[in-house]
Amino acid sequence: MGLDRWNPSRRQFLTAVAGVGGAILLAPDRLRSADVDPRVEEIVSKTIAIDMHNHVQVRFVNGSADVRPAPGTGLIGEMKRSRFSAICQTWPVDSLVSKKPGDYYQHFLQGLAFEDRLLASNGMRRALNMKDLETAHTQRRPIIIQSTEGAQFLEGRLERVEEAYKRGLRHLQLLHERDDLVAPLGDVYTAAPHLGGLTAFGAQVIKECNRLGMVVDLAHGTDETVRAALKVATEPLIVSHTGLSEGGPGTVSADMQRRLIDKDVARAVAAAGGVVGVWWRLSATTGEYVASIRSMVDAVGVDHVGIGTDSDLTASYALPYTNQIWPGENGGFFRAVAGEMLNRGFAPAEIGKIGGGNFCRIFAKVTAGHA
Ligand SMILES: [Zn+2]
Repeated sequence: MGLDRWNPSRRQFLTAVAGVGGAILLAPDRLRSADVDPRVEEIVSKTIAIDMHNHVQVRFVNGSADVRPAPGTGLIGEMKRSRFSAICQTWPVDSLVSKKPGDYYQHFLQGLAFEDRLLASNGMRRALNMKDLETAHTQRRPIIIQSTEGAQFLEGRLERVEEAYKRGLRHLQLLHERDDLVAPLGDVYTAAPHLGGLTAFGAQVIKECNRLGMVVDLAHGTDETVRAALKVATEPLIVSHTGLSEGGPGTVSADMQRRLIDKDVARAVAAAGGVVGVWWRLSATTGEYVASIRSMVDAVGVDHVGIGTDSDLTASYALPYTNQIWPGENGGFFRAVAGEMLNRGFAPAEIGKIGGGNFCRIFAKVTAGHA
């Protein structure tokens, strides 16, 4: 996520109607089901669809492990509606300002406690390997890939990467907005560069993720940080949520411009076998979102683009609600986007790759041979 928050008015509306909203929000799907192109349903049914970056709000309670899922976080229902087989479910470890070393580590543990309860209350679990994703898809029982946005909980202690792995993390986004207080990992695109790109500790963390079998995500890193990460990584990496910076100054706000990836850096990620995820932020409609996907495909190739919405499936956060980011986004996020992609000339096989196949290629490779 980022500093420029989504306009909360729609979220407040959704919250306000939540009590009776299930029926209201679901009704259009049922009404439109007869209109759905059968080719779209076939694509959606075949694809292990993945959102590489999806938030669910973690409610931290300082000094307590009693972190309960927020009322109404019906994750399983929203996942089924979205037609994603899995989401890389994430939360910003630095969502609270750390006052002293140890704080981010506590936030991390509390966040995991929250996630444990959220998953238990939804009858869900974490995917640990590719077989878990395949089973979830076959059985239509959506699953999450546990991630965090920022690795500030490490605090210079490399062994905490394995601790996170043992708690089920299979995807680590090294950077967010604030530095690790003890041992920063690298420069982020929303602050003045002061670390020379990736730090020596950041490089160690990437190698440790590669050793353990965790997907490395360089979202929020500066272009210099991403280039340095590519030099030390022995497995493909992802940049889960961004867009291309090619529009140039004046095309978007200065704040947005610095959050976008240079085409050559995106190509370097692709050349190393990686995937760049396209977020919602450059798009006001589903059609514009698909146009953003097209731009990324033109830049890096169809085998290296994915979906990384940077939205929130449970509408619990100051981010758009995944299943209704745009007007007319009917039938759940992936079905709507797949339909629009088909309309705009993407072949079914291409939609499958971008919808999740490309991420799964990396997830399978990275986690192969590990528990
Ligand atoms: Zn982000």
